[in-house]
Amino acid sequence: MSELVERGAAEIARDVNAKRVSAREIADAALARADAVDERVGAYLRVLYDIARETATRVDERVARGEKLPLAGVPFAVKDNMCLNGTRTTCASRILERWTAPYTATAVQRMLDAGCVPIGKSNLDEFAMGSSCENSALGVTRNPYDLGRVPGGSSGGSAAAVAAREAAIGMGSDTGGSIREPAAFCNLVGLKPTYGRVSRYGLIAFASSLDQIGPLARSVEDAALAYDAMAGHDPMDSTSIASEVEPTATALRNDLRGLRIGIVREFPLDPLGAEMKSAYEQAYRDLEALGASLVEVCLPTAEYGLATYYLIAPAECSANLARFDGVRYGSNVDAGDVGTMYERTRAAGFGPEVKRRILIGTYALSSGYYDAYYVRAQKARTLVARDFAKAFTSCDLIASPATSCPPFALGAKSDPYSMYLMDYYTIPMSLAGVPALSVPCGWAREGGRTLPLGLQLVAPHFAEALLLGAAHAYEGATKHAGTYAPSLVAASGVES
Ligand code: GLN
Repeated sequence: MSELVERGAAEIARDVNAKRVSAREIADAALARADAVDERVGAYLRVLYDIARETATRVDERVARGEKLPLAGVPFAVKDNMCLNGTRTTCASRILERWTAPYTATAVQRMLDAGCVPIGKSNLDEFAMGSSCENSALGVTRNPYDLGRVPGGSSGGSAAAVAAREAAIGMGSDTGGSIREPAAFCNLVGLKPTYGRVSRYGLIAFASSLDQIGPLARSVEDAALAYDAMAGHDPMDSTSIASEVEPTATALRNDLRGLRIGIVREFPLDPLGAEMKSAYEQAYRDLEALGASLVEVCLPTAEYGLATYYLIAPAECSANLARFDGVRYGSNVDAGDVGTMYERTRAAGFGPEVKRRILIGTYALSSGYYDAYYVRAQKARTLVARDFAKAFTSCDLIASPATSCPPFALGAKSDPYSMYLMDYYTIPMSLAGVPALSVPCGWAREGGRTLPLGLQLVAPHFAEALLLGAAHAYEGATKHAGTYAPSLVAASGVES
């Protein structure tokens, strides 16, 4: 493996701007790495050889002209529910298998403007519905730390690409945990920004009131640089927030002195089992050792988070996915009349989980059930958001587990409900719209493997600088992040 693919985004940008290495050399190394390992990892649905090389050459030209680019030459993975002009954008669904994006998503464009080089479009659960990447209709992605296990989802392809050194940054989208959960499973930092902070223009919608784009990276500094590049107002997204973005990469801290960190009373550690419990107890002690004071906070309605989310997200998905009817987008199955054509197209094009969500969502929105399900879910959502607002009157940040288990074996969770439970710790933050991240916090041993765990940190709306700043202090003191664990990777067969 070339040493170049080991480098993080900050180091690459420094060296490319200083002309110590070219963006083209970095891109070639990332492409070679994808050639060497992606057959086994399956992070990418498509590697963008020509686009990567052309983009890298243009970055080198910009640097030669004297431009300083915050992410000069940084290779990145683009989740395949984000549009990149002229390339296929499939959402890992048969219905969009042959659809080519006619424009570029704003967040992707901002990464390109900052000097990033796209290496490939990465796999996901179909339309971002899932927690393991196993709902993809177009490919299997494996966890680089153990190829028998899932990388998490739905942004599993971007996470696997960054963990396997096929990219330095991964772009993910998080509706109920889809950045934080794969980050935890692949020993990465993954940030879900405040709802509305990063433009959704060009992100194919799943649940529009929850969807948020954010970065996956091997260090907090890299995640901060990527967030700074992608965040900001966009007139093309009506839910995009107009206020100034506070830069985060310049706000990284080395201690937590003066911060009150809330530990959630309703998230006891006992149900996680002895090993995870002791890892999180250690993480909380580490926060304290860095100068934070730990306080107990209450999120009494958090336990309704899952039920609330699994009404609101399917309701919005049933409306958003109505556009895939074989007329304007993607594939279609011909039939004598238009109604049969819709039916056959959607029956053949959507996978079972997507169909389940559309059915649940249509039911929850139907007249007669609307008040009982959808309206009540919206009321519960308001209560969850109020819980966070109240909790943040007595603390600056909240800490909790990111997931309820370490990465699990491919095929281990066959019923939808056990998959839904994966998002227990991440969904309340999505409902409240507050920013949250997962940062590596240690290891669990299972079946002879050492598997990564993630600590979730949560901040009030728009406090990304505080959130990433604190995560940086924790990362620096604990050094779990960035651990390549080459022996693990060698044992799992990724290294040849
Ligand atoms: N796992 C959750 C779901 O299936 C969240 C997915 C996401 O955040 N995109 O809906």
